[in-house]
Amino acid sequence: MSLAQPLDADPAPPAPTFESTDPATGAVVDVFPVHDVAAVGAAVERARTAAARWAALGFDGRRRRLAAYRGHLARRMHELADLVHRENGKPRADALLEITLAVDHLAWAGAHARKVLGPRRVSPGLLAANHAASVEYQPVGVVGVIGPWNYPVFTPMGSIAYALAAGNAVVFKPSEHTPAVGSWLAAAWRAAVPDVADVVQVVTGFGETGAALCRAGVGKLAFTGSAPTGRRVMAACAETLTPVLMELGGKDAMIVDDDADVAAAADAAVWGAMSNAGQTCIGIERVYATERVYDAFVAQVEAQVRDLRPGSDDAAAYGPMTMPTQADVVRRHVADAVAAGGRVLTGGTVDGRYVTPTVLLDVPETSAAVCEETFGPTITITRVRDAEEALERTNANAHGLAGAVFSRSRARAMDLARRMRTGMTSVNSVLTFASVPALPFGGVGESGFGRIHGADGLKEFTRAKAITRQRLPLPVDLMSFRRPAAAADTLARVMGLVHGRHR
Ligand code: NDP
Repeated sequence: MSLAQPLDADPAPPAPTFESTDPATGAVVDVFPVHDVAAVGAAVERARTAAARWAALGFDGRRRRLAAYRGHLARRMHELADLVHRENGKPRADALLEITLAVDHLAWAGAHARKVLGPRRVSPGLLAANHAASVEYQPVGVVGVIGPWNYPVFTPMGSIAYALAAGNAVVFKPSEHTPAVGSWLAAAWRAAVPDVADVVQVVTGFGETGAALCRAGVGKLAFTGSAPTGRRVMAACAETLTPVLMELGGKDAMIVDDDADVAAAADAAVWGAMSNAGQTCIGIERVYATERVYDAFVAQVEAQVRDLRPGSDDAAAYGPMTMPTQADVVRRHVADAVAAGGRVLTGGTVDGRYVTPTVLLDVPETSAAVCEETFGPTITITRVRDAEEALERTNANAHGLAGAVFSRSRARAMDLARRMRTGMTSVNSVLTFASVPALPFGGVGESGFGRIHGADGLKEFTRAKAITRQRLPLPVDLMSFRRPAAAADTLARVMGLVHGRHR
């Protein structure tokens, strides 16, 4: 049975289709419709109708249904991991890891939505002391989610789980490289939550389908992908003043300080750079190691990558590049680094879609391998005077997604982490923040804006609603044409006494 979900019951001519293929074998995984403007509009309308019912269920009704969905996913993790393996190419174990993370985020979002978003009283202040004041966070209606292929479950779920828990319906456009996984997630929702099945819709196709979603009048568009596409998405959304969330690429750095546990830092750097074939937005792409630890660090990294091997079998460390064009980017970055005087310590070769674990040394900061997102199993290691120079170089990049600091000094590491110009930093580990559902996830600069995950991620898919309720009328109403002529002067005198003493 095809995973593709037919969108229209119309007897209109059948939509054009496209194939999703296994990057390791080229075998066809499934065939999907290319949804056009009309089909996307119809999906958004269905979601809009469902959104009203979903919002009316309230926090408890939604929490129960989100629990049913996560239970459904948790019971079928291996089935989904197998599909992710076939369509994206990553090892099944890595697919399982990303699915467990997504399930955990679903649990957190459902459990915390009421506390974060529900009505909360605030102080009315001096001027409105006779009023009760409250704030609550209301759903925006339908959230459009456009996702990439590298973490086809975890990444879109970072938007979908939090958007749903906040009371919205979702129309999800998966990457053209992972439509089967996206359709599986939507079909799972329909099976687990049949009474509001239309709350999650999926549309498939290429960039035009995503662009149609941007113009379909959704309440918010959550985009995860590259900065160039992000700019196009923002431009399309600007036409209808649709607000956007931008989760874009990164060029994450690791700082290895004088007092770091060098073996642990090397282990984390290798995993952070090579796992998922380096196709990780928060993957480590650059390392700055201080003079004192540089040689030991390089030796540890060299020893650790020696045993790594790409492949599509279960013993492989990572899989093929999901897109053939990504292998070309790696090739270009390695060639550029070598031409600029860099040295290939290990790897540097590309065989079809498989890239060997690549460690580059002495690469100038101006070279593409250091400046641009590579998105492959590569890493540059650069010797720096001290951690301050490392931080300076880390912060010189236009991206600002995440990063890591290795140091045994808690105070020093926390200081460096705070001053790193990124949305997220992990100390003495890599990528850990992504597995903490209570923490916000997102970047600065070219890495985008807005946050998924945590309380900020729930609020991201809402609009704040402010309400005041008069509790008792005052003898003098300042906002009335019937107020006494001297009322404003009296108020100004009181405010002058309260605030005027501050210098
Ligand atoms: P792209 O920017 O190429 O595509 C992202 C999504 O946008 C895809 O679904 C794509 O569809 C769609 N799209 C393409 N053109 C348009 C358009 N004109 N209008 C609307 N949608 C469009 O990114 P990749 O899929 O290659 O993903 C890799 C990038 O994502 C990397 O830069 C990575 O760092 C970043 N990323 C960021 C994350 C974060 O959380 N910050 C997490 C994961 C990845 P189609 O595939 O059909 O062309």
